[in-house]
Amino acid sequence: MPRLGVLGWPVAHSRSPAMHNAALAELGLQSWHYQALPVPPSLFAQTARALSGSGFRGANVTIPHKLAALAIAEEASETALSIGAANTLTFSDGGAIAADNTDAPGLIAALDCALGRLRVLVLGAGGSARAAAWALREAGAGEVSVWNRTRERARSLAADLGVRYAEQTEAADLLINCTAVGLRAEPSEAAALALLELDDEKLGEYGYVADLAYREGQTELLVAAARHGARTLDGLEVLVAQGALSLELWTGRTAPVEVMRAAVRSRGSERGGEPSGP
Ligand code: NDP
Repeated sequence: MPRLGVLGWPVAHSRSPAMHNAALAELGLQSWHYQALPVPPSLFAQTARALSGSGFRGANVTIPHKLAALAIAEEASETALSIGAANTLTFSDGGAIAADNTDAPGLIAALDCALGRLRVLVLGAGGSARAAAWALREAGAGEVSVWNRTRERARSLAADLGVRYAEQTEAADLLINCTAVGLRAEPSEAAALALLELDDEKLGEYGYVADLAYREGQTELLVAAARHGARTLDGLEVLVAQGALSLELWTGRTAPVEVMRAAVRSRGSERGGEPSGP
């Protein structure tokens, strides 16, 4: 039985197993199976290296293993190397590990818009902000700026990737939240926006707002953005897009995106307070 999975810590609440198993069934790959693989950081390298011997063809990688996943791979795509992190591992028959990053192209696919002249403001300076800023720069966005609660991290990300550092949250065509704000409900919408140094008035300055964080129901950021008439994109769409690209790498088949979307949005895969990401 060819096996796939998602390595994370914690990972019990991941929606990836439901999403990928629905896709595998739709593709007629009934003998394949995708499962959650909870692995603490201290055991990540040895567990990942052992997977191919247990019939695994590939694995997604989520918090906190994305840097370690790149480090253990024998081969890596240009995208993974440039970002410095991998979210997809593919195991060869001989056990060699190839690393890729589908977070970056997944985000661009999910955004589904012409980026050429857009000013983009990325919120955050962690792994997903890094992938987003790199992807947007590569996709030719008009201007990419990065803001973060801890300024020094945004400064250093901007310098590394050759994008702009934003001292304050500022007006842009596209706003992308790549922080952990939104993962859990805040006491009020204003409180959630304040963590991002935004308020209701400032939110009127963005035509398109994407939030990588997701949980049951919409995040405060997306609720407020929609009220201002902005186009919105939630983290589940990004999850589906990166998952589809990973599945295509492992199976060589076109991913059934509608089936994957329905699986992540079905009530059965919804649990309150779960961490988002693959
Ligand atoms: P990291 O831990 O690498 O980065 C976390 C970021 O969130 C940092 O910029 C941090 O700022 C910021 N942050 C955390 N808490 C707060 C707070 N209370 N107020 C303001 N900023 C805060 O995480 P990732 O980059 O891997 O993930 C970020 C988000 O994106 C998560 O919600 C994750 O679940 C989601 N995600 C979703 C994916 C999807 O497919 N939809 C894929 C990958 C990630 P500081 O530097 O100041 O600590």
